[in-house]
Amino acid sequence: MTIKTFYFNPYRECTYVADNGQGKCFIVDPGMYGPNEEQRMADYLQKNNLQPIAILITHTHIDHICGLDFFRQHYPSLPVFGMNYDMKLPHYLFSENTAKSEEYCKDNIDEKDKSSKRKYEDNIFTLNQFTSPSVILTPGHKEDCVCYYFEEDKILFSGDTLFQESVGRTDLEGGDTGTLLQSLHLLMELPDDTTVYPGHAYPTSIGHEKEYNPFL
Ligand SMILES: [Zn+2]
Repeated sequence: MTIKTFYFNPYRECTYVADNGQGKCFIVDPGMYGPNEEQRMADYLQKNNLQPIAILITHTHIDHICGLDFFRQHYPSLPVFGMNYDMKLPHYLFSENTAKSEEYCKDNIDEKDKSSKRKYEDNIFTLNQFTSPSVILTPGHKEDCVCYYFEEDKILFSGDTLFQESVGRTDLEGGDTGTLLQSLHLLMELPDDTTVYPGHAYPTSIGHEKEYNPFL
């Protein structure tokens, strides 16, 4: 998996395009704001001949989802994954836009495969043509925060839960410092050589954070 980082919108939010080397990609937190940034995304996809197969949302702060409209317009059937707003449905489905994502999930969630010893086995779903990610529930910065862990690729998309030597703010609505610290400790159970792609600033690793993150 190769990962392209865009810094979008006035918050310099990280939008990631992860590409499987075979023309398919998924997008984490599309944050394009305005026609110029939308064009940059469109150009990138076109030049690299990439077909998006899904969108993964780490949480619903505006800087992480303001590019959703672009994808809805140009790829109306694209499934969108994330925490459901009201947390009533299966806990990692995001059905905010259409029934499509729900449908997609139902077809693809491998709920019966408990043979694996993966720690997050209950929350694994399938992204066609990629390795299967686990969704790790990490409330604290906001109630609906999740991280996406690709065990085989040793990659974590951490949203605004974990930053390089920092964590997301907890003073906005739905934020809670104690909860965030619990989530942070949960992430520290991942292998040290997991590369972390956060919602702002620069990539890091679990090992680096164990040593240098002042919130631990
Ligand atoms: Zn946020």
